[in-house]
Amino acid sequence: MTELLFRDDAYLRECEAVVTAVDERGVRLDRTVFYPNGGGQPGDSGRLLRQDGSALRIANTVKGDGLDEVIHVPAEGEALPAPGEPVRLVLDWDRRYAHMRYHTALHLLCAVVAAPVTGGQVAADKARLDFAVEMDALDKDAIEAGLNALVRAGHAVDARWIADAELDANPGLVKTMSVAPPRGHGRVRLIEVAGADLQPCGGTHVRNTAEIGPLVVQKIRSEGKQNKRVIVAFADA
Ligand SMILES: [Zn+2]
Repeated sequence: MTELLFRDDAYLRECEAVVTAVDERGVRLDRTVFYPNGGGQPGDSGRLLRQDGSALRIANTVKGDGLDEVIHVPAEGEALPAPGEPVRLVLDWDRRYAHMRYHTALHLLCAVVAAPVTGGQVAADKARLDFAVEMDALDKDAIEAGLNALVRAGHAVDARWIADAELDANPGLVKTMSVAPPRGHGRVRLIEVAGADLQPCGGTHVRNTAEIGPLVVQKIRSEGKQNKRVIVAFADA
């Protein structure tokens, strides 16, 4: 099990850690600031600094088989550390911060478009949600205006935990039909954008919607009878 430092503080860029295991899948540590790919948000990349001064490039971060198990996937050809070795992890912060801003933007998109979400994906240069809705229900200008109003309002974004039983008693909280909320330890993490959105989510978010900055709806397109895709991007990108 890995202590998931990003879950309590998404703004941590570095941490000390100890290597707990190394195998063909990658490096496991006792704690990490690296988010593992999941819930539509890509895994983090960065560097693992060793005590001899050398650095190992981490190309991706993925979930292991166990609860809260995180695997840091080295770039090809990197020399691997040994179990027990103390290391320092340094996040590729610009990429992660873009993921945080886009991920939070998708919560706002959930609030602006009143339709069931069937899927979603964050990248460093755009993000998208798929909705089960008719095409003519999606007005590009109205969505863009709605998003930017929520950004400008500077709503606080907070996380809290509720018991699994409480979530089961309130199934309306789960808006993303294709992504089950992350569970474990008998509790689930809720993300609340004050006055706009409340749903279970395990990803990393900014503290305030103002940090997202101005957004544009890049494209709205049909992905089949069931799915309509809305792609958003930073206006200054
Ligand atoms: Zn989220």
